[in-house]
Amino acid sequence: MMAAALTAGGADWETNACVERILTDGGRVRAVVVNGREIGARAVVSNGSLPRTVHGLVGDGAFGRDFLDGFDREVRLSNSSCQVYIGIKPGERLEPMGDLIFSSTCPEYDADAIAAPHVTSRTYSVYYPSIRPGTDQYTIVASMNARGKDWDGLAPDAYRAAKRRLIEDTLDALSVHIPRIRQITDCTEAATPRTFARYTGHPGGASFGTKFEALKYSMGLPAQVGGLFHTGSTGIIMSGWLGSMNYGIITANQAEKYLEGPPV
Ligand SMILES: Cc1cc2nc3c(=O)[nH]c(=O)nc-3n(C[C@H](O)[C@H](O)[C@H](O)COP(=O)(O)OP(=O)(O)OC[C@H]3O[C@@H](n4cnc5c(N)ncnc54)[C@H](O)[C@@H]3O)c2cc1C
Repeated sequence: MMAAALTAGGADWETNACVERILTDGGRVRAVVVNGREIGARAVVSNGSLPRTVHGLVGDGAFGRDFLDGFDREVRLSNSSCQVYIGIKPGERLEPMGDLIFSSTCPEYDADAIAAPHVTSRTYSVYYPSIRPGTDQYTIVASMNARGKDWDGLAPDAYRAAKRRLIEDTLDALSVHIPRIRQITDCTEAATPRTFARYTGHPGGASFGTKFEALKYSMGLPAQVGGLFHTGSTGIIMSGWLGSMNYGIITANQAEKYLEGPPV
């Protein structure tokens, strides 16, 4: 659907295309480097991680000292998540138990414990055949908050073991709700902050990007580097589809105005 809309609007688009650098010249953007290929651009809108856009893709040399000092002092990454995917054996079925089950064994609200490696709070999403027409299979996805730093430094063996532990602990916790869960489970897999970092490019797997203080720096990019815009996640209401409606449209309008301005 997006591809059709882009093509109809006269856009060229590419997938599997990693923007490696945003090149600037005389205080303005001039090109992006995509998979080693330089493409000239008067304006660049980044929907990726804000810290990575500033420090990695553009580079500190293009920004004023005050901007960078404030940025490094104030901008905080959001937390990340872990997920455990549980495929139920063909032919087995789950009794209706709701689509979302929120569960916590923590005796009281504790913001630190919510994202701690020793998991006490989980949300289970239960997928029934009725909500996936064309299949007769059941799946459960357990979601947990997590912090990238608890997963980043693990060596390969320790990382594999930690993922295994996450899966086993989840099955144990789920057996409270579904006593036969181990007998009816066909396959399991786990995703961690490292998985989300790998596929989205958000440092620490911070799929919600940064917290809200980053918005002023995100909006301040064009004043630092002409033609540089950011519309990625800076706080939850600037994230995902909601972010596209809120912030994406505002930023697209600014980029368009910039491009319609006098050529430089
Ligand atoms: C496990 C999990 C569960 C979640 N559950 C929910 C939920 O229930 N409800 C909810 O509202 N949100 C949820 N979220 C968060 C939601 O996924 C994010 O808020 C949303 O995807 C952010 O959208 P975005 O477009 O800002 O960024 P992203 O979805 O991260 O999109 C950025 C895109 O830019 C690409 N990109 C980055 N850098 C580059 C580069 N250099 N070159 C080319 N491409 C690049 C990435 O590959 C990615 O496709 C969840 C996230 C996770 C990880």
